[in-house]
Amino acid sequence: MSLSRSQFAMMRPEALLCSTPAGLYSPAGDFYIDPVRPVDRALITHGHSDHARSGHAKVMATRQTLDIMALRYGAGFAGQTQAAELGQTTEINGVSVSFHPAGHVLGSAQIAVEKEGMRIVASGDYKRRPDPTCLGFEPVACDVFITEATFALPVFRHPDSRDEIAKLLKSVEQFPERSHLVGAYALGKAQRVIRMLRDAGYDQTIYIHGALAKLCDYYQSQGIDLGKLAPATVENGSSDFRGAIIVGPPSAFLDRWARRFPDPVSCFASGWMRIRQRARQQGVELPIILSDHCDWDELTQTIGDLGPKQVWVTHGREEALVRWCDLNHIAARPLHLVGYEDEGD
Ligand SMILES: [Zn+2]
Ligand SMILES: [Zn+2]
Repeated sequence: MSLSRSQFAMMRPEALLCSTPAGLYSPAGDFYIDPVRPVDRALITHGHSDHARSGHAKVMATRQTLDIMALRYGAGFAGQTQAAELGQTTEINGVSVSFHPAGHVLGSAQIAVEKEGMRIVASGDYKRRPDPTCLGFEPVACDVFITEATFALPVFRHPDSRDEIAKLLKSVEQFPERSHLVGAYALGKAQRVIRMLRDAGYDQTIYIHGALAKLCDYYQSQGIDLGKLAPATVENGSSDFRGAIIVGPPSAFLDRWARRFPDPVSCFASGWMRIRQRARQQGVELPIILSDHCDWDELTQTIGDLGPKQVWVTHGREEALVRWCDLNHIAARPLHLVGYEDEGD
């Protein structure tokens, strides 16, 4: 499908997709991907708040991403919505658009846009390693691959996720008198930690902060079995949380909510826990290195697998990945999109 190098040289990919202050924009199709400002037509890769914002007139996304946006923002989050079936092509003003699994969180998708034989894939956020809570990343051949670069430094090599969950379970076994407070972002990370604990054989009730309840319910409704969950409220039941695992958003652990638990072991599930100093600064006793983004090897492997003619690099450490592409004779440039943080990690 993809263009020959000489054909590619004749065409300007920027006519199909380019960066603007509101986000990635398709001049040919007159739509945006993950815009950071309200626009007329938005295609959304996934439900993290820096990618999925409310207030667009028309939104196209996977059914699950639309559901997640409605849970977070209310049913009126957009004027009109359109559910994208994975792998199916839709025409928007003469541009073919299709969604493909990104392996990042439930509902996450890469968006491929194509016109006159040129295909650009905007991957949103993605990862390559298995995640029991969402479909795995599907490589889509393309002329231009747009990649995020959250962990795009050779120092970032995420360890085996199962070993990280085993660390947590070992600590629970070693300190039966203490509670374990696990900080994990509300969309994706929290459910992944819970599901991985179940896969490792942990069958006790897991207590969750109220901010996770709706999304955990939604994951369960989509067939991701999280086992027995209960609200982590003192009023609710006789548990004094000794020996228990409690999962909550990282922000909750800074406030009074966290002080009710007996002698807590503070844990944080994040790719950033690879940086020991960062864990220490945040008062994390047990860092759990678990990321929903690619590490350095996954990024370079993906670019190698796809072999695109160009790579556009966004949100993160653009320079290192652009340099790696240069060294490997792949044309690459930073996109300089603004407004993306790492809610997912
Ligand atoms: Zn992101
Ligand atoms: Zn994300």
